[in-house]
Amino acid sequence: MANSTLPYRGRFAPSPTGPLHLGSLFTALASFLQARSLNGKWLVRIDDLDPLRCKAHFSKQILTTLENYGLHWDEGVVHQSKRSSAYQNALEILSRQNLTYDCVCSRKQLEERYTGESRLTYDGYCLKNPATASKASAIRIKVGQNTIQLNDLTQGAVSQNLSDKVGDFIVLRKDKAFAYHLAVAVDDNDQNISEVLRGIDLLDSTPRQVYLQQRLELKTPAYAHIPVLVDSHHAKLSKQTFAADASEMPINATLIKLLHYLQLSPPVDLVSSPKHDILSWAIEHWQLDNLKKRTSIVVSTH
Ligand SMILES: [Zn+2]
Repeated sequence: MANSTLPYRGRFAPSPTGPLHLGSLFTALASFLQARSLNGKWLVRIDDLDPLRCKAHFSKQILTTLENYGLHWDEGVVHQSKRSSAYQNALEILSRQNLTYDCVCSRKQLEERYTGESRLTYDGYCLKNPATASKASAIRIKVGQNTIQLNDLTQGAVSQNLSDKVGDFIVLRKDKAFAYHLAVAVDDNDQNISEVLRGIDLLDSTPRQVYLQQRLELKTPAYAHIPVLVDSHHAKLSKQTFAADASEMPINATLIKLLHYLQLSPPVDLVSSPKHDILSWAIEHWQLDNLKKRTSIVVSTH
C-alpha cells in the first residue's frame, strides 16, 4: 500500500452510546495488535458527535475497560464533541466549491420518494427545488457521478458509485450536528492515521469518507475492514442485541477467547499468565491476513 513507508498510526474510535461490549472489544484488540505488531502508534478517539445518544459516563467507562484489558493507547484521547471548529472549517471549504446545498426533506418525504438501490439513496429533490422558506434544513454534499474505488486490505477491491448507492449525502444534520462521515474524514487526516482497521459494517460508508477526503484534499488512509462478531442467529453483537458489557467478563479468559476469534491459537496455559504476557504473545503471532475475506465470526455462548 501507498502508506507502507509512513510510520504506522491506527485508531480505535468507539461511540459512547453504551458500555464496551465484546464485539467492540474484538475490534479494539485487532486494531491494537495491528498497530503494536508494526511498531506503530495506537490512538483512541471518542466519536461522540450525537449529543442525544452519546453519554460522557460511557466514554469514561469505555476507556477504563480498555485499560483493564491492557489496551493502553498513545497520545491524548480526542473527543469529536470538542472538534466543531475543524468540522465547520471543512464545511466552509465544501461550500466554497459550491458542493453543498440545503435540504428540508422530512424522513417521511424521503421514504415516499426514494429511488435507486435503497431507501438511503437521496433523489436530489432539494437541489432541483431549492427551499424558499427558512425551514430547518440539513446540508447535503453533491456526489455527481463519482465512483469511488479502494483496495481494502482484508476485503479486497471495493467499488461504489455514490449516486446509485447513497446519492447526495448529509454533512450537517437538521439538528446542526455534524455528520459522522465528515467528522471521521477530518479527524483521520488531522490525526495522521495511516490505516483504519474497523468492522466490516462500516465498509459501505467508506467510499463516502474517501469522497470527502478527495473534495477536502485530505489524506486517504489504508483500510482494513475485519469481520464482526455475530451471535448464533447471525445478528451482529451490538448494544441493540444487548451484547454483554466487557467490563463484567473475566479479563484473561476473554482475551484468550478473542484471540481464537482472531484466528490465533494461543497455548492452553497462556490464560493463567499476566494479561500483558497474553498481549505480548498475541502481538508476536498476529496476522491480519488470517481474517482475509471473512465477514463474520460466530461467538460461542459458553
Ligand atoms: Zn431534500
